Amino acid sequence: MSSIRHIAVLGATGSIGGNTLNVIARHPERFRASVLTAHRQVDALVALCVQHRPALAVIGDSTLEGELGRKLAAAGVRCDAAAGHDAITAAVSGDLCDTVVAAIVGAAGLDSTLAAARSGKRLLLANKESIVMAGPLLLAALQEGGGELIPVDSEHNAIFQCLPGGRPDLGKSGVRRLILTASGGPFRGRTRAELSAITPDQACKHPNWVMGRKISVDSATLMNKGLEVIEAHHLFNAPAETIEVLVHPQSLVHSLVEYVDGSVLAQLGNPDMRTAIAHALAWPERVDAGVAPLDLAAHAALHFEAPDLSTFRCLALAFQALRAGGDAPAILNAANEVAVEAFLTGALPFLSIADVVESVLTELPPQAVVDVQSLTERDRTAREAARRILRNAC
Ligand code: NAD
Ligand code: MG
Repeated sequence: MSSIRHIAVLGATGSIGGNTLNVIARHPERFRASVLTAHRQVDALVALCVQHRPALAVIGDSTLEGELGRKLAAAGVRCDAAAGHDAITAAVSGDLCDTVVAAIVGAAGLDSTLAAARSGKRLLLANKESIVMAGPLLLAALQEGGGELIPVDSEHNAIFQCLPGGRPDLGKSGVRRLILTASGGPFRGRTRAELSAITPDQACKHPNWVMGRKISVDSATLMNKGLEVIEAHHLFNAPAETIEVLVHPQSLVHSLVEYVDGSVLAQLGNPDMRTAIAHALAWPERVDAGVAPLDLAAHAALHFEAPDLSTFRCLALAFQALRAGGDAPAILNAANEVAVEAFLTGALPFLSIADVVESVLTELPPQAVVDVQSLTERDRTAREAARRILRNAC
């Protein structure tokens, strides 16, 4: 078998996808992008195919299959083309790749993430919504496939780096607490009254990171951190009471692990996702990520504070869903996806995102997570409930 890693980049046209392709292109002797997928952006996908020459390009929207084939041919790219949700899942399971970067946004990434785990690929997980929704199912799929999951979310990648051998089992590691850092988003320090008229563009203007719009809004509400708390719970087998959130506006300390002897290990670096991506691609080796060296003297002071849970209620709701257990995190996630989309289209005020999520959680008491079918059904029910609440509110 060749020593080159063959990588499927799911969500190649997105922010994580672009950063991944940037790291891959720096190391042609190690990495090859063999499968690229996108949702609807045919032109952007074709441009990436011109540059990276994958064996297969997949467009999620099946009505765009013909357009993708024509445009690839016109661009002189000789690669297979496929379309549809199932084609993405099939590409992940097949032998075109040994590594899968799960960077689709939202619950839409669940099937392909599970398929990557089940087929024993190295899974680089950016799509946090899939582990939030289906944590136990994803862990079971990983065990079944025998592959490995390396977190790409910067906080979880930091924790992975601070645990001995990346060992994802707190009980045996002498770990007391996982401390997830949060930038606090663009509205840190604001009061609720000051947040009543926030626009989507204001919410998407993150102080430190350039990201897709959904995760940018999640960062502004702190739901992103809430999803990450649930993600950490599953990835590291950590009870809710061992996970803490610490606001750190500079985003240089990406997270910390506290041990029972009082040691606290942290991973630091500039806020650039290529560090976590390069770490996960090359692990257990290290490769250049193209990231500027961290100049701590230039930053001088690092600041830390507790999160404001009464202004940023989404973080409290995520802890509540984690403690409630069962499929409450999946309900939380579904309601949040609907509410964020409504906010982005101007149909819901910023502060009401938390209200929608809370109402749906109250309406749908948790059930046990049994299988993907029932979970998908609950996801649908939660979305319908959120849409009804939105309609009644307008
Ligand atoms: P993005 O919006 O920039 O990109 C999303 C990608 O997913 C695009 O390529 C899009 O074509 C594809 N996509 C969207 N809907 C799809 C669907 N229904 N079917 C198939 N493909 C679909 O998002 P992003 O910022 O790159 O985030 C991707 C994931 O990574 C999210 O789960 C996010 O929470 C996570 N993440 C992102 C960052 C970051 O810095 N951007 C950091 C940590 C984690
Ligand atoms: Mg993160």
